[in-house]
Amino acid sequence: MRKTLYIIGLSAFVFSCTPQQNVKKSSYKPKGPVSQPKTVVKTQTPEKPKPQITNDHGVEFFTTNISDAAKNDNTVSYGSIVSAKPAGYKVVKTYFPAIAQNFRQKYLILHYTALPDDKSITVLTQQAVSAHYLVNNTGDNEIYQLVDENKRSYHAGVSSWRNDKNLNDTSIGIEIVNAGYTSDATGKKIFAPFNDDQIKKVAALAKDIITRYQIPATNVLAHSDIAPTRKQDPGPSFPWKKLYDQYQIGMWYDEASKQNYYDLATSTDFTVKYNDPTFIFSVQTQLQKFGYTLDLSGKWDDTTKKTIEAFQYHFRPQNYDGIMDAETWSILQALSLKYPVK
Ligand SMILES: [Zn+2]
Repeated sequence: MRKTLYIIGLSAFVFSCTPQQNVKKSSYKPKGPVSQPKTVVKTQTPEKPKPQITNDHGVEFFTTNISDAAKNDNTVSYGSIVSAKPAGYKVVKTYFPAIAQNFRQKYLILHYTALPDDKSITVLTQQAVSAHYLVNNTGDNEIYQLVDENKRSYHAGVSSWRNDKNLNDTSIGIEIVNAGYTSDATGKKIFAPFNDDQIKKVAALAKDIITRYQIPATNVLAHSDIAPTRKQDPGPSFPWKKLYDQYQIGMWYDEASKQNYYDLATSTDFTVKYNDPTFIFSVQTQLQKFGYTLDLSGKWDDTTKKTIEAFQYHFRPQNYDGIMDAETWSILQALSLKYPVK
């Protein structure tokens, strides 16, 4: 950000200096009668055209994306203008729109409601929790918007990813109607499947949001990724791989890369080093680098196990026992290689 501002500042400086030099070069004292110069030396930088403001049902918005032309400008929320109306004064919107602004929406977080359709709506609209969108399970073509994209919805709670905390501030939340899990006799969590029609809806909605805000793949996450000690949703039944393969949504590892690491892991006795504090520390460090929040304790403590379980919900859904086995380890290596922290 500083770098960008510096570049903008520098280019402004260069730009404002150049015309002055031109003026100096072209200044001379004519001997004869003064005639009109053929070329007019511009001493000011050319002004950008004023952005247009239009009005849709009483909502004013810029018709182009003034902060970042690389991003789409096809929605009202992209350019909507919420302004003060101070008594006795006029707020002018067209003269001074700053280019130094960006979007608050950096993350897309997916959830399940663990409730049926009607209760999901009641809870998410009438209680202290909400989401921007709710994807029902009724087989129609509707997606419910509960909160304006420019506002915070209360879906993430205490949460973190990489250097960001409290992700309600910077995310769009999608709740999906799904029954969640029940526990079997051994205490294992059994997760309800997702309906194919719902997944298509989620994919279309996610794609639209990701494209408009250019949300990076590393920021398309499960609630369990950003709050692994508290949350399981949307759980291992959610088809992250399908979303990646069919819609290019979110992160997934390269199979060949995973296989290389797997061969490496299984060529040594993986179980021997499993309880070695150095190995545990390295796994914790890698999970932390990848994005999860956990202490580097050097022990398989409860937080670490839950973090591994969350990782497995997302990237190794066939077995989510919270144990860093050779396959889970190989997937973590392959993902860390493919999505390094910049
Ligand atoms: Zn959730």
